[in-house]
Amino acid sequence: MTETQLREQICLLAKSLFDRGLTHGSTGNISARTEDGGLLVSPTGTSFGRLDPAMLSRFDPAGQHVDGDKPTKEMPLHTAFYDTRSTAGAVVHLHSCHSVAWSMMPDVDADNFLPPLTPYAIMKLGRVKLLPFFLPGDPAMGEAVRGLAGKRSAVMLANHGPVVAGKDVEAACHAIEELEDGARLAMMMRGVPARGLTPDQITALVTKFDVDWDA
Ligand SMILES: [Zn+2]
Repeated sequence: MTETQLREQICLLAKSLFDRGLTHGSTGNISARTEDGGLLVSPTGTSFGRLDPAMLSRFDPAGQHVDGDKPTKEMPLHTAFYDTRSTAGAVVHLHSCHSVAWSMMPDVDADNFLPPLTPYAIMKLGRVKLLPFFLPGDPAMGEAVRGLAGKRSAVMLANHGPVVAGKDVEAACHAIEELEDGARLAMMMRGVPARGLTPDQITALVTKFDVDWDA
């Protein structure tokens, strides 16, 4: 994919997320690796509904901001994933309603944020780590991600929103949609004796689709 195509894809998928209410206002940020090892990043204060391919912040392979608008203040969060996961080709962060709601529930498992209800959430996300609340833009968020040593592709920032890394923009967007949908199902099923996936079903999924589940 050329850089021009990548710029267009970032803006197209961001708009799709925005149009479906998965992030609102000027929330959310997205980044992707360029072929030369640099990064394209959504600028600070911009809406996912109106990202301009020509205005994306561009970083060179050494991590220097070389052109485009000023990048999101959550850069440390993005670079933490790229630096610890060699397979990361894109990172997306949203303020998606159901994930945020589920992060406030008192009995959520911080080491496995989503209850095992559907196969695709497990296949696309593995175990999702719930991180504590941080002030927006706090570099400590990046440090918390680095503390996971690249073992998780998806984290949930409590009372804030999910952050997911994928091999490319499309994979990262699909995975974060699974996270939001998993949280929505979890909210819907809360208090109901719902039949989630059994341990045997989870083991079969993890084996068949080579999910990094024990990390
Ligand atoms: Zn945020």
